[in-house]
Amino acid sequence: MFLRYNKKRIKKFAQWQRVPYRVKPMSQDEHECATCGRHYMGNYCPQCGQSAKIGRYSLKNAFLLFIDVWGLGNRGMFRAIRDLMLRPGYMIRDYLRGMQMAYFPPFKMLFLICALSLLVETGVNIQGINRYELYMEKEKEYAQKKQAEAKADDTLTAARKEAQVATYNIFYMLDDKARQNPQLTVLVYMLLFSGPLYLMFRHCPAIPDLRFSECFVAMVYIINMLLIFIIIPSFLCFSFKAEAYFDLFVLFLAIIPIKQLSGYSYWGTIWRIAVALIPLTIIVLTLFVVIMFLYIMLHPELFEHLA
Ligand SMILES: [Zn+2]
Repeated sequence: MFLRYNKKRIKKFAQWQRVPYRVKPMSQDEHECATCGRHYMGNYCPQCGQSAKIGRYSLKNAFLLFIDVWGLGNRGMFRAIRDLMLRPGYMIRDYLRGMQMAYFPPFKMLFLICALSLLVETGVNIQGINRYELYMEKEKEYAQKKQAEAKADDTLTAARKEAQVATYNIFYMLDDKARQNPQLTVLVYMLLFSGPLYLMFRHCPAIPDLRFSECFVAMVYIINMLLIFIIIPSFLCFSFKAEAYFDLFVLFLAIIPIKQLSGYSYWGTIWRIAVALIPLTIIVLTLFVVIMFLYIMLHPELFEHLA
């Protein structure tokens, strides 16, 4: 009985997930525009574009104007967050089909979420601590320990010792740069991953003629979804180890929107992502080696011990 009840609910939820957002029917009341005085029916003044909802000043529209300062306005920010958590792939499909007024624009959302996560990392969390500094201190200690170990290791030649010291310097520096510029890091990874992912999903059942630009926009929304989840352990100040496990788990959640968006089965989605990960891994490793060489050539001081 209980099980059957739940099954029914799950089925209902699955049905709800697929239904696109519906704009409320237009009101049949006549309005007089507060700005230009025109009489009209509908939600917006046809002459000057002012919303029919704006009348006397209220706390609610004062608040909306206040959050509009950061570009949050009311273009579906909260709807986009809710749908990204409950029906991400279907929402992205609706957006790609043209429902752009219903959802907050993806790139703007990415930059706002990254700014928010940096705030949370550097102090706006339940303990009010700068987690970014704490983390980098730990990383530095680790790198210094490894460098000292390499120096003390008599089995290594002098050149190998220098190379190891430089490697830990570069690891530390890249980590620091990535944490300081989360937007840039995310965008670089997305640019690298979008090609392979596009090749695997361009003929998917739900969108058989998927364009590269659409695939990229979908990825931005998926990243937004992951970032919303990833802010939670930072805000609650999990230990760094617990946070790393949580983030890893969240990465697997990306399977859900890709499945919903593409129309493949779960297995069909998973193996395609796995195949797309192979070129990504090769590209990232190659880039890393290239960056290392460039840095070592340009910065000989990297061979010195971390201070
Ligand atoms: Zn008007």
